[in-house]
Amino acid sequence: MLRAGGYKLTIPRLTVLDILEEMGGHLTSTELIDLVEQRNPTIGRATVFRTLDLLAQLGIVGKSAQSSSTISYVLMSGGHHHHLVCTHCQRVIEFPECELTDLLNLLRSRYGFHPESHLLEVYGLCAECKAWADNLDLNDSHDTEG
Ligand SMILES: [Zn+2]
Ligand SMILES: [Zn+2]
Ligand SMILES: [Zn+2]
Repeated sequence: MLRAGGYKLTIPRLTVLDILEEMGGHLTSTELIDLVEQRNPTIGRATVFRTLDLLAQLGIVGKSAQSSSTISYVLMSGGHHHHLVCTHCQRVIEFPECELTDLLNLLRSRYGFHPESHLLEVYGLCAECKAWADNLDLNDSHDTEG
Protein backbone atom coordinates (compact mmCIF):
# COMPACT_ATOMS: atom_id res chain seq x y z
CA MET A 1 0.00 0.00 0.00
CA LEU A 2 1.13 3.52 -0.75
CA ARG A 3 1.14 5.93 2.11
CA ALA A 4 0.15 9.48 1.37
CA GLY A 5 0.86 12.47 3.53
CA GLY A 6 4.03 13.87 4.97
CA TYR A 7 6.95 14.71 2.78
CA LYS A 8 8.90 11.55 2.42
CA LEU A 9 12.29 11.72 0.81
CA THR A 10 11.49 9.54 -2.14
CA ILE A 11 14.15 8.36 -4.58
CA PRO A 12 13.51 11.21 -7.07
CA ARG A 13 13.63 13.81 -4.29
CA LEU A 14 16.84 12.40 -2.87
CA THR A 15 18.39 12.17 -6.32
CA VAL A 16 17.54 15.78 -7.20
CA LEU A 17 18.79 17.04 -3.83
CA ASP A 18 22.00 14.99 -4.04
CA ILE A 19 22.77 16.39 -7.47
CA LEU A 20 22.06 19.98 -6.43
CA GLU A 21 24.28 19.53 -3.41
CA GLU A 22 27.15 17.99 -5.36
CA MET A 23 27.04 20.67 -8.04
CA GLY A 24 26.63 23.48 -5.54
CA GLY A 25 23.18 24.32 -6.86
CA HIS A 26 22.55 26.70 -9.74
CA LEU A 27 21.32 24.16 -12.27
CA THR A 28 18.62 24.71 -14.85
CA SER A 29 15.84 22.17 -15.14
CA THR A 30 17.43 20.90 -18.38
CA GLU A 31 20.77 20.34 -16.68
CA LEU A 32 19.07 18.64 -13.76
CA ILE A 33 17.04 16.35 -16.01
CA ASP A 34 20.25 15.27 -17.79
CA LEU A 35 22.09 14.58 -14.55
CA VAL A 36 19.14 12.74 -13.01
CA GLU A 37 18.86 10.60 -16.11
CA GLN A 38 22.55 9.69 -15.97
CA ARG A 39 22.17 8.62 -12.39
CA ASN A 40 18.78 6.98 -12.50
CA PRO A 41 17.19 6.54 -15.94
CA THR A 42 13.90 5.37 -14.40
CA ILE A 43 13.15 8.92 -13.21
CA GLY A 44 11.39 10.73 -16.05
CA ARG A 45 11.44 14.43 -16.78
CA ALA A 46 7.85 14.93 -15.58
CA THR A 47 8.91 13.52 -12.22
CA VAL A 48 11.90 15.87 -12.09
CA PHE A 49 9.60 18.87 -12.73
CA ARG A 50 7.10 17.70 -10.11
CA THR A 51 9.91 17.12 -7.65
CA LEU A 52 11.36 20.58 -8.25
CA ASP A 53 7.94 22.18 -7.76
CA LEU A 54 7.42 20.35 -4.51
CA LEU A 55 10.91 21.16 -3.20
CA ALA A 56 10.34 24.81 -4.14
CA GLN A 57 7.02 24.82 -2.27
CA LEU A 58 8.76 23.43 0.77
CA GLY A 59 11.41 26.15 0.57
CA ILE A 60 14.18 23.57 0.13
CA VAL A 61 15.12 24.83 -3.31
CA GLY A 62 14.68 28.32 -4.71
CA LYS A 63 14.12 29.44 -8.28
CA SER A 64 16.50 32.11 -9.40
CA ALA A 65 15.80 33.93 -12.65
CA GLN A 66 19.20 35.26 -13.55
CA SER A 67 18.27 35.95 -17.10
CA SER A 68 14.80 36.26 -18.54
CA SER A 69 15.03 32.91 -20.32
CA THR A 70 16.58 30.60 -17.74
CA ILE A 71 15.54 29.69 -14.27
CA SER A 72 18.15 27.99 -12.18
CA TYR A 73 17.45 26.03 -9.05
CA VAL A 74 19.45 26.73 -5.94
CA LEU A 75 19.61 25.00 -2.58
CA MET A 76 18.18 27.05 0.24
CA SER A 77 20.55 25.79 2.90
CA GLY A 78 19.32 26.98 6.27
CA GLY A 79 16.22 28.38 4.57
CA HIS A 80 17.93 31.12 2.65
CA HIS A 81 20.18 31.95 -0.26
CA HIS A 82 21.65 35.30 -1.29
CA HIS A 83 22.90 36.62 -4.62
CA LEU A 84 24.45 39.76 -5.94
CA VAL A 85 23.64 39.81 -9.63
CA CYS A 86 25.64 42.05 -11.94
CA THR A 87 23.33 43.40 -14.61
CA HIS A 88 26.27 44.15 -16.86
CA CYS A 89 28.43 40.99 -16.92
CA GLN A 90 25.72 38.67 -15.48
CA ARG A 91 28.13 37.46 -12.83
CA VAL A 92 26.47 36.07 -9.71
CA ILE A 93 28.24 36.55 -6.40
CA GLU A 94 27.12 34.52 -3.40
CA PHE A 95 27.11 36.17 -0.02
CA PRO A 96 26.41 34.41 3.24
CA GLU A 97 25.76 37.45 5.42
CA CYS A 98 22.13 37.67 6.42
CA GLU A 99 20.91 40.77 8.20
CA LEU A 100 17.26 40.11 7.61
CA THR A 101 16.26 39.07 11.12
CA ASP A 102 14.81 42.49 11.95
CA LEU A 103 12.94 42.68 8.67
CA LEU A 104 11.54 39.17 9.09
CA ASN A 105 10.38 40.04 12.60
CA LEU A 106 8.73 43.17 11.26
CA LEU A 107 6.91 41.13 8.61
CA ARG A 108 5.70 38.82 11.35
CA SER A 109 4.35 41.56 13.55
CA ARG A 110 3.01 43.86 10.83
CA TYR A 111 1.48 41.33 8.46
CA GLY A 112 1.08 38.28 10.67
CA PHE A 113 3.17 36.56 8.03
CA HIS A 114 5.41 33.64 8.93
CA PRO A 115 8.51 33.67 6.73
CA GLU A 116 10.00 30.25 6.12
CA SER A 117 12.65 30.84 3.50
CA HIS A 118 14.01 33.56 1.29
CA LEU A 119 16.01 33.90 -1.88
CA LEU A 120 17.49 37.38 -1.89
CA GLU A 121 18.83 38.79 -5.14
CA VAL A 122 20.33 42.24 -5.30
CA TYR A 123 20.83 43.63 -8.80
CA GLY A 124 23.49 46.13 -9.73
CA LEU A 125 27.06 46.42 -10.94
CA CYS A 126 29.91 44.31 -9.63
CA ALA A 127 33.09 46.06 -8.52
CA GLU A 128 34.79 45.53 -11.88
CA CYS A 129 31.85 46.71 -13.96
CA LYS A 130 31.39 49.70 -11.68
CA ALA A 131 35.05 50.63 -12.14
CA TRP A 132 34.65 50.21 -15.88
CA ALA A 133 31.51 52.38 -15.91
CA ASP A 134 33.19 55.06 -13.78
CA ASN A 135 36.10 55.03 -16.17
CA LEU A 136 33.78 55.59 -19.13
CA ASP A 137 32.22 58.56 -17.35
CA LEU A 138 35.65 60.02 -16.64
CA ASN A 139 36.69 59.67 -20.25
CA ASP A 140 33.50 61.35 -21.39
CA SER A 141 33.79 64.36 -19.15
CA HIS A 142 37.56 64.85 -19.14
CA ASP A 143 38.66 64.02 -22.64
CA THR A 144 40.50 67.30 -22.99
CA GLU A 145 43.05 66.02 -20.51
CA GLY A 146 46.55 64.98 -21.65
ZN1 LIG B 1 29.91 42.82 -13.61
ZN1 LIG C 1 23.55 30.93 -5.33
ZN1 LIG D 1 19.21 35.22 4.49
